[in-house]
Parts: sequence; C-alpha cells; structure tokens
Amino acid sequence: MPRKMTDQEWEAQNSGLSPRQAAARGLCGCCGGKAVLYTAFGGVQRKVPCPEKCRNGKARR
Ligand SMILES: [Zn+2]
Repeated sequence: MPRKMTDQEWEAQNSGLSPRQAAARGLCGCCGGKAVLYTAFGGVQRKVPCPEKCRNGKARR
C-alpha cells in the first residue's frame, strides 16, 4: 500500500519546465504540458485544472 506523498513530492509532479522551456516544446507555459497543476499546503494536496485553460497542455496558437 503506497504511503501518502509529502507535500514536496506532490508538487514535484508538476512539469518543472520554465515557461520558456515549455513554449519551446509547444507546451503551455503555465502547466508545462500537464494540463493540471499540483499544489499542496499543510498536507492538503490538490490537483487543479490549468488556470490558462489550455487544451491538454498544448500551447495556444
Ligand atoms: Zn496549461
């Protein structure tokens, strides 16, 4: 049974790409192609849709 992830591990699921790196790959600069953002605070771990409303993490043209 998997243990609960720490907040740090949870946030490590974000792409880690800078907006510029993401753009160079044709990906959304906000979520880095994930289409979701992982946020955690005080053990409350959330996955939220990309606020840019990108389509599946692709950069908008
Ligand atoms: Zn996005």
